[in-house]
Amino acid sequence: MPKKIIIVGAGLSGTLLAIRLAQKGLQVSLYEKRSDMRKDGRVEGRSINLALSDRGLKALKMIGMDEEIQKDCIPMKGRKIHPVSGEPFVSPYSGRADKYINSISRGGLNISLLNKAEQFSNLELCFDKACLGIDYHGPIAQFQDKQGQKFEVEADFIFGADGSNSVVRKSMLALSHHLLFSYSQEYLGHAYKELVIPPAVNGGFRLDNNALHIWPRGGYMMIALPNLDESFTVTLFLPHKGPNSFEKLDNASKLIQFFKENFPDALTHMPSLVDDFFSNPTGLLLTVKCLPWQVNGKSLLLGDAAHAIVPFYGQGMNASFEDVVVFDELLEKNQGNWEATINEYESVRKKDTDAIADLAIDNFYEMRDQVANEIFQRKRKLEMKLEQTFEDYMSKYSMVTFNENIRYSEAMIKGRRQDELLLEYCKEHTQMEDVKLEEALEYINTNSRKINLK
Ligand SMILES: Cc1cc2nc3c(=O)[nH]c(=O)nc-3n(C[C@H](O)[C@H](O)[C@H](O)COP(=O)(O)OP(=O)(O)OC[C@H]3O[C@@H](n4cnc5c(N)ncnc54)[C@H](O)[C@@H]3O)c2cc1C
Repeated sequence: MPKKIIIVGAGLSGTLLAIRLAQKGLQVSLYEKRSDMRKDGRVEGRSINLALSDRGLKALKMIGMDEEIQKDCIPMKGRKIHPVSGEPFVSPYSGRADKYINSISRGGLNISLLNKAEQFSNLELCFDKACLGIDYHGPIAQFQDKQGQKFEVEADFIFGADGSNSVVRKSMLALSHHLLFSYSQEYLGHAYKELVIPPAVNGGFRLDNNALHIWPRGGYMMIALPNLDESFTVTLFLPHKGPNSFEKLDNASKLIQFFKENFPDALTHMPSLVDDFFSNPTGLLLTVKCLPWQVNGKSLLLGDAAHAIVPFYGQGMNASFEDVVVFDELLEKNQGNWEATINEYESVRKKDTDAIADLAIDNFYEMRDQVANEIFQRKRKLEMKLEQTFEDYMSKYSMVTFNENIRYSEAMIKGRRQDELLLEYCKEHTQMEDVKLEEALEYINTNSRKINLK
C-alpha cells in the first residue's frame, strides 16, 4: 500500500475517495484549487443541484453517510411532463412505490463530505492549491497557491479527481506516445443555463416538489429540480447556434417571447428570468473517454477526470461515486495489493463508464424528443405495469438507476434490447386495455434471451 497519497480535487468523488482511504488508515492529502466552500459560502460547480440515486447511495453507505445525506434530499418519484398547452402529467420512474431519485444540493453534499473528511487525523485538507501538472517520475504534483507561489509535493501515489477539465489527465496527454494514451472529448451541440423558480410569494413550492419537471420541445428542452428552500433550479438546454439557440436569444424581448411561446406555464413562475439568463454562465456539455487511466501504477484518474458524461441520465456523480465503491471492493478482493487493484480496476471499470456515457446521450434524445410521444408513453405505461406485476421485471431506467448490483454495461445491453421489443409490442397493441401482461413479458423474455452480454 502507498504510504503517502495525494488526491487532486476535493469535489464530490475526490472527497468521498479521501474519506474511504482515510477509513482504511492510509495517509491522504486532498488538494483543491478553490477556497474552502464552507468558509466563503461560494459553491461553484457544474450544477446547483443533482439527482442522487442508488449507486451514489451505496457509496455513501460505504462511508457511513447515507442516512445523514438522505435527510437533505427531496424524493422525485417521476417526471412531470409539461406540454406547451394542456395539463402537465406524471410519468413515474418506477412501477414500485419505494423507488425514486433524490434531489440534493451539490454544495450541501460537498460540504457534508468535507466535514466528514476533516474528522480524520490522517487526512489533510489543502484548499487554494491548484495543481499545475504531474511529473510521473516521482510522482510529484506541482501546485500553485493563492498568492501565486509554486511548490511541489512528492507522493507514493496520486489520484486525479479534478473533474472534466482535469489537469492530471492533461499531464497524461503530454505523455501520450509513451502511454499509448487514447483520448476523446466530444462536445454536445447543446449548452445549458441555470435559472430559478423561487418559492411562492407566501412560501411553499410553486410546482409539485416530488417530481423532476420536464418541458420537452423537440430540438431543446428545460428541466427543474426542487431545492430544500422551496425553490426549483431550472436548467435550460438549447443548441449553441441556429434556430431556438443561445446565440439567437440575445436580448430580453426575444427571451420573453421565446418563453411565452415555448414554456408559458414556467414563465409565470420565473420573475427573475431576464436577470438570471443574462447574468448566469452558459455551461458546456461534453463526453470524455480515455485510456489508460493509470500511469505505471503511480497515478489513477477517477470520476469525471476519467469519464465525464452529459447529465441526461443523472448518473455522472453516481458513476463517480461508484468508481470509489468498485476500487474499494477490488482492494478488498486483492487483499490490499495496490498494483493488482489498479490494473483490475482499469480493465473492469472502463466498460461500464463507456456504457453510462452512451446511455446518457441516448437519454438526451429520449427526454428531448420522445417523452411526449404517444407510443413512448404507452411503452412507459406498459413498463410500469410489468414492474408492478412481476417482481423480477426491471426497465432499463430501473436497471441503471435503482439497481446498483447490475453493471452499467449489462443494463445498457439488456435495456436497449428490451426497449426495442417494448416499442415493437406497443406499436402493435394500440389499446393498453388489450395488453395481456403475461404475453408481453413472454415476448420480451423470449426475444431478450437471444442477446449476448459479452
Ligand atoms: C448541468 C449538470 C447537471 C448534472 N446533474 C447530475 C445529476 O443529476 N446526477 C449526477 O449523478 N450527476 C450529475 N452531473 C454530473 C456531476 O456533476 C459530475 O459527474 C460530478 O460532479 C463528478 O464529480 P468529480 O468529483 O469527478 O468532479 P467535480 O465535481 O467536477 O470535482 C472536481 C474538483 O476538482 C477541483 N479541481 C479542478 N481542477 C483542479 C486543479 N487543477 N487543482 C486542484 N483542484 C482542481 C474542482 O475545483 C472540483 O472541486 C451533472 C453535471 C452537469 C454539468
